[in-house]
Amino acid sequence: MELADKVTSKPRELFIDGQWVKPAANKYFTTINPATEEGIVEVAQAAEQEADLAVAAARRAFDKGPWARMKPTERGKIIFRIAAVVEQQLEELALVESLDTGKPLSFTRTRDVPFAIDLLRYYAGWANKFYGTTLPTDESALACTVREPVGVVAIITPWNSPLILSLMKIAPALAMGNTLIHKPASWTPLSALKFAEICQVAGLPEGVYNVVTGPGNTVGTRLTTHPDVNKVSFTGETVTGKVIMEKAAGTLKRLSLELGGKSPHIVFADGDLEAAATFAAKGFCLNQGQICWAGSRLFVEDKVHDQFLEKLLRHVREDWKVGDPMDPKTSVGPLISKSHLQEVLGYIDQGKKEGAKLILGGDRPPMKKGYYLNPTVFDEVENSMKLAREEIFGPVLAVISFKEFGEVIEKANDTFYGLASGIWTRDMKKAYQAARRLKAGSVWVNCYGALDVMAPFGGFKQSGFGREFGQEVLSLYTETKTVWFQM
Ligand code: NAD
Repeated sequence: MELADKVTSKPRELFIDGQWVKPAANKYFTTINPATEEGIVEVAQAAEQEADLAVAAARRAFDKGPWARMKPTERGKIIFRIAAVVEQQLEELALVESLDTGKPLSFTRTRDVPFAIDLLRYYAGWANKFYGTTLPTDESALACTVREPVGVVAIITPWNSPLILSLMKIAPALAMGNTLIHKPASWTPLSALKFAEICQVAGLPEGVYNVVTGPGNTVGTRLTTHPDVNKVSFTGETVTGKVIMEKAAGTLKRLSLELGGKSPHIVFADGDLEAAATFAAKGFCLNQGQICWAGSRLFVEDKVHDQFLEKLLRHVREDWKVGDPMDPKTSVGPLISKSHLQEVLGYIDQGKKEGAKLILGGDRPPMKKGYYLNPTVFDEVENSMKLAREEIFGPVLAVISFKEFGEVIEKANDTFYGLASGIWTRDMKKAYQAARRLKAGSVWVNCYGALDVMAPFGGFKQSGFGREFGQEVLSLYTETKTVWFQM
């Protein structure tokens, strides 16, 4: 069977307690390929009742199953096996991800799936390396801390990079001994379902990883209010994060929230302008700009404004080709959906009305099908305009000029987001001072979008709290327990 047929051949059911389960109401929804606007496959639509079943399975697996009590080394071995199966099935997983999201296949094969494998191996290695301490008591007592899993974790993920954004939660949560219910975004449920198949093949015990596909306002709400869920780990929009925080308060769940961004990318006149232009283009074109850390506000020192913009536009035209995600020459695929495309086009209209100067794109390429949009650059943007304040989540860049250091730091920080930022300068004192003053979870100096499994990532302000990646995330999936022996 052709790989593409294999991906689309059978309806996808829910994965609960190690079994493929039909939804009680027998409802299915069609997941759409944004490049063709055609249905890919039917996917089960869970309701609250299936969310409850998945929570019960995860609860049982946590309280009675082997996973949480297993020797951490053995747990790590199972996660290493999952990584090996992902590697064997790389081509299929990459294809699933590209069909479902519109991401170019050349990226999902070389970046998304390999990064997911790195995440699994990195955290498989941590399974037996994250531990408590012995406290300095006198000899009348022995006191220590142990790290225990939090319990049942609901993982709720968005559509923009579904595999990676899910695995960055799933891998550490599993390594620490938790059991999971995963609710992927309804636009892009397929990689989660494929991952469930892989977990089965790799021998993950039943009930440890469950997938319920369905709407956020029913299934998601049930997971965030269910008394048997101990923690919610969420990535998505800031407004949804706020709703989840309110809902989770009723049962005081542990929360980690990775939310939106409107990240400043600052080019000082003494920076390497050619390299900066390459990264400024990548900062808003990669994944069609549907990236939480997109460098969507580009601050350019006015002395080099014209020279820099000429380089930037050249890089956008040469390096970021819009086209069919299956074509190896494509680097910009379609946006996720028709409604999202309309929203992004609405921001472009608004930008023109607000008086920003459109210098590239703003229109759609001449494809007959697919939610495509050309990379779009606005110059002469004021930081107060909607273009500079709201997360557009499309390939739209707002260029803002500045004259001096204090002014740009103030403008860069003038946003309620605080996810990421970038600085280009050859003056390391200036770079360091800017890095310290920017209110963002990541500051990239003379690069942009440098992500690594070992480097903590997350938001200041309304971009959320908690850090993913590295050792830091492990504390979010464990509780510290103090054990005191009085001799
Ligand atoms: P979204 O908030 O609309 O949805 C995210 C997930 O939450 C989906 O699975 C959705 O079904 C579910 N959901 C919706 N309402 C819910 C509710 N009331 N209760 C529980 N679950 C609910 O976000 P999206 O449009 O899928 O993703 C794009 C957003 O994600 C952008 O704002 C982007 O910046 C953000 N994001 C952040 C990061 C980060 O690391 N900070 C990474 C990627 C994306």
